[in-house]
Amino acid sequence: MENEPYQLRGSRVPPMTLKEISETAKGFSRNFELKKYLKLKRIDKPLEMLSPYGITIDVKNEVQWIKETFGLTSGHFDPNSLTISLPEHTYELACAGDKDALFIVMHEIGHLILGHKALFHSSNKLPTYQEDSEWQADSFAEVILDTLGFSLKQLSFDFL
Ligand SMILES: [Zn+2]
Repeated sequence: MENEPYQLRGSRVPPMTLKEISETAKGFSRNFELKKYLKLKRIDKPLEMLSPYGITIDVKNEVQWIKETFGLTSGHFDPNSLTISLPEHTYELACAGDKDALFIVMHEIGHLILGHKALFHSSNKLPTYQEDSEWQADSFAEVILDTLGFSLKQLSFDFL
């Protein structure tokens, strides 16, 4: 499928390689001591450490969440207010170290740390996966989970 144009899942952002994303994710994991807090089942601690940077983690109860998102999304990042919104059960499961919930939280943090903004792009070139905000955020989350010792079968970071 070489000639098939890449279908963006998210918005088009400046391209990043997996190596660049991986370095950023590993730095975040290290600086915020994610491994230590995972062991303590206190991932809420590193999330709280984001607040001095003006970053808000907005935890919503299930009723609010369904009302605002129609249950269509598992998490949300607003680049204008630097707010990550999460449903309560995802937040609590992530804090306790649940892999799938952590993936959702780290995906949203990926959008934040990688500086994703809604840009109005006009380009004659077709987008590539490296410019896809969703691919970048997923890659960020995968690397973080890898640093925490979770095995993800789709990962192949032999070159890092
Ligand atoms: Zn996303």
